[in-house]
Amino acid sequence: MLQWIARKMFGSRNARMLKKVQPLVTKINEYYVSYQNLTDEELKAKTPEFKARLQNGETTDDLMCEAFAVVKDACRRLKESSNPEENTVLVTGHPLRWDMIPFDVQLIGGIALHRGNIAEMATGEGKTLVATMPLYLNALTGRNVQLVTVNDYLARRDSEWMGHIFKWLGLTIGCIQNSMSPAQRREQYACDVTYGTNSEFGFDYLRDMGMANQRQDLVQRDYFYAIVDEIDSILIDEARTPLIIAGPAKVSTHMFDKVKPIVAELYHRQYQLMANLLQEAKATLADPESTAEAIDEAHLKIAKVQLGMPKHKQLMRLMEDPSVRKALDRKDIQLHDDNNRGYLQRVTETLFFNISERNNEADLSEKGRQFLRPGDADAFVIPDLPTIFNEIDTDQSLDEAAKLEKRKQAQMEYDQKSEIIHNISQLLRAYCLFEKDVHYVVQDNKVVIVDEFTGRPQPGRRFSEGLHQALEAKEGVKIERETQTLASITIQNYFRMYDKLAGMTGTAETEATEFKSIYNLDVVVIPTNQPCLRIDNNDRVFKTQREKYAALIEEIIDCNKRGQPVLVGTISVEVSELLSRLLSRRNIIHSVLNAKHHQSEAEIVARAGQFAAVTIATNMAGRGTDIKLGTGVKEVGGLHVIGSERHDSRRIDRQLRGRCARQGDPGSSRFYVSLEDNLMRLFGSDRLASIMERMGLEEGEELSHSMLSRTIQGAQKRVEQQHFATRKRTLEYDDVMNKQRSSIYELRRNILLTDDTRELLLNYIYTAVMERVENAFAACPKHETLDLAALKDWLARTIPIGFSPNTFSPADTPEALSQSIMNRIEEAYSIKEKMETPDALRWLERYVMLNALDNLYQEHLYAMDSLRQGVQLRSYGQRDPLVEYKQEAYILYASLMDAIKDEICSNIFRLSMVSPAQLEAAKAEANRNAARQKAGRISEIHENIQAFEGLDPSRPQNDAPPVRSTTLHREHPKVGRNDPCPCGSGKKYKTCCGR
Ligand code: ADP
Ligand code: MG
Repeated sequence: MLQWIARKMFGSRNARMLKKVQPLVTKINEYYVSYQNLTDEELKAKTPEFKARLQNGETTDDLMCEAFAVVKDACRRLKESSNPEENTVLVTGHPLRWDMIPFDVQLIGGIALHRGNIAEMATGEGKTLVATMPLYLNALTGRNVQLVTVNDYLARRDSEWMGHIFKWLGLTIGCIQNSMSPAQRREQYACDVTYGTNSEFGFDYLRDMGMANQRQDLVQRDYFYAIVDEIDSILIDEARTPLIIAGPAKVSTHMFDKVKPIVAELYHRQYQLMANLLQEAKATLADPESTAEAIDEAHLKIAKVQLGMPKHKQLMRLMEDPSVRKALDRKDIQLHDDNNRGYLQRVTETLFFNISERNNEADLSEKGRQFLRPGDADAFVIPDLPTIFNEIDTDQSLDEAAKLEKRKQAQMEYDQKSEIIHNISQLLRAYCLFEKDVHYVVQDNKVVIVDEFTGRPQPGRRFSEGLHQALEAKEGVKIERETQTLASITIQNYFRMYDKLAGMTGTAETEATEFKSIYNLDVVVIPTNQPCLRIDNNDRVFKTQREKYAALIEEIIDCNKRGQPVLVGTISVEVSELLSRLLSRRNIIHSVLNAKHHQSEAEIVARAGQFAAVTIATNMAGRGTDIKLGTGVKEVGGLHVIGSERHDSRRIDRQLRGRCARQGDPGSSRFYVSLEDNLMRLFGSDRLASIMERMGLEEGEELSHSMLSRTIQGAQKRVEQQHFATRKRTLEYDDVMNKQRSSIYELRRNILLTDDTRELLLNYIYTAVMERVENAFAACPKHETLDLAALKDWLARTIPIGFSPNTFSPADTPEALSQSIMNRIEEAYSIKEKMETPDALRWLERYVMLNALDNLYQEHLYAMDSLRQGVQLRSYGQRDPLVEYKQEAYILYASLMDAIKDEICSNIFRLSMVSPAQLEAAKAEANRNAARQKAGRISEIHENIQAFEGLDPSRPQNDAPPVRSTTLHREHPKVGRNDPCPCGSGKKYKTCCGR
């Protein structure tokens, strides 16, 4: 009932809108008639005239009727011209006679598109032509307008076809193809009108915003107005997976293979040590004579094992004893007691290393260091870089060049040592916390993660932060390079950037709510030019698929005998192939297409309307291609369309039906359904099967449609809703990213486009300083002296220049103090400027800012990836993952911003290039890096990936496994046992939810 009311209301709203535009159509046609007196030159002169009028304050709305009339009259002139240059156009290699003048319904469609609506126009109504009018009108503004198609072939076909009219009217037209170089793409975007696919547009955006190193690298110029053809396919069917650019992680400097043997040895030593401790403890506990002291000693030994190897098999077995567990909890409290500082350290010093539960990390003890590098304990101490830099800077005996050299050396040593320490730590985690055949398996020489909940291997997924590589080293298989997301965006968020978006399709009505809520697009249903003569037959429903296919083949043969062409639509390649085999057995000549070769398939589909043709195609194959009827076909009833089953979505079924009976042609359609079809099995009601049973059908017997049509529609609606929920969920997660992405890209654009990099850079430094100074003031109660230790420490670490004590004396207001610090920084910067050529320094400034932004943003994306996976686990703990995701994403973002500023501050003073030769070398290196990225190691992904893994709400929730009590290994620090419990109870975590 509600549905019926909604439909009625929608229907009348639509009728009102159509009535309102009628006067505009009349007006367009009046202009059209008056223009017929103009010469060609005069009509062409309208383009510059309109442009000028727009410059002088008129709007595209003001010009709409005139502009549409100009396009219409240009079409007429091309059609009536006797000059083959004008009346014929070469489209994908074939000459095509121009024979179109927009019908009135097409004008209405054009108005709807100009106003940013979705025009629903049946297949064959000529949407390609409709789009030219609003594209022409909006391109007159001088901004880039775009038409989005579902594949490269259609982009080329339509741009060549419609380009004819644009060129005649003096506009330029471009077309993006997958194979194009950045330079070629830039040329296409520079045109007035650009055709291309959604993924090309989306990836170009990601490359522009995330990877361009200089202004000249950008290819796109505008996000102004786009018309999306087959908009349901693009914004609904393809919108479940985001566009992702993935690439190898930054330079791989790992030393896993080198350090592995010695770490393995270290692990065995510790293992032995643990085994001995456990042996002794067990003996004591088993001995009834043991004193309380001895027992306590035994518990301490077990606690040591817990610190040194929490996954030790024997330990696990011991822990099954509740009394041991309790004793260990007590020991744990003692060890972490703040009143007993140093105790923990004394204990860990007896081990080679300890696995810190809190940080999920492995820490080497002095004993461990001694083992790894006897006699050189410093080998594993990370140098204190700020102090060293400070020493170098204040060393009077060194000249600037020597200082530079020394700084470089210190940095290198620092990098190397931290890498080694990180590698050792990850290897220890790999050995101690990850068990083969439990947490991962080794398949085909690869380490494959095992999903904790389902127990299924997850090929292609990797642990982050080098852990996966550590496992590869541990297992002695090839150590792969890390990959990571470099940039990603959902189709939804890409298209939401446009000032104005419009779309067209044959089938939008059923999805009108989604278009409205997500894109704020209204659907306008445009009437057909000719009344539609299509006969939609009732579905034929069978019990089994076998019976269904048999009947379907008979219907094809029947049509074929009479010469009526048949187009069979399937939902999968398998079914297409099965039907093809069945037809071959009956000697029926036919063609099969499966949406792989767009151009050749388009050509085959175009012939599907010929006398006695039989064509089998998956739903996507040949979409957007017009099927014209051959001679003698009208007389036998036109094209007959058969659906081999009902699709998940009613929209796709309508799409298939719409392939016949275009522009007043005769035509018919029928769907075949069996109760074994996925849709019916999974979503049809159970009642159905029992009714069937009771009726006791004969083999091959058919069910009446009326009884079942409800069930089928109901099933389809259920699936549609589920998919809608998935898309919404994907979008909700991406919305969080989207805000961050837009601000980062905004910053990046600023850096890329600014003419004053020095100013921008100093601004960054100033903000960073100001924030720290404000923190110092905020931490200081009134009338007390400022504690500047943290500020000074930060300065020493990030800005490696000496500060004299009186820099800090004007400590009245945050502004004064910041200014004083900035003065010193600017002074140091001026000295640096004197040493470098201005060109080099300007380049360096931009480079330092971009580099900091890119590197840290990529790391941030990496962290966001793991966060997204991590929060999913929490849905089992009855918390809303989305809420948690938002909160933590915000924190991550705030620290990203801090980190970017810090990185800029420290790098600008650390990096330098004295000679022009050095500058050239650095530029070349940056370009090489960019080229390498483009040369294929970067992959663009927009299919078959579950980037938003686990977010699929269609995954039955009641199948979710019960909450498991074992520790989950996450990639970020988890709540410490003694931390306040995140549930807000106020208790310690271990005594609350962490028990
Ligand atoms: P749609 O995209 O709406 O399915 P197309 O743009 O592919 O339809 O056009 C279908 C066919 O209709 C094409 O062969 C085209 O040449 C023809 N056509 C479109 N508009 C007109 C027109 N105004 N006059 C004559 N033929 C037209
Ligand atoms: Mg089309």
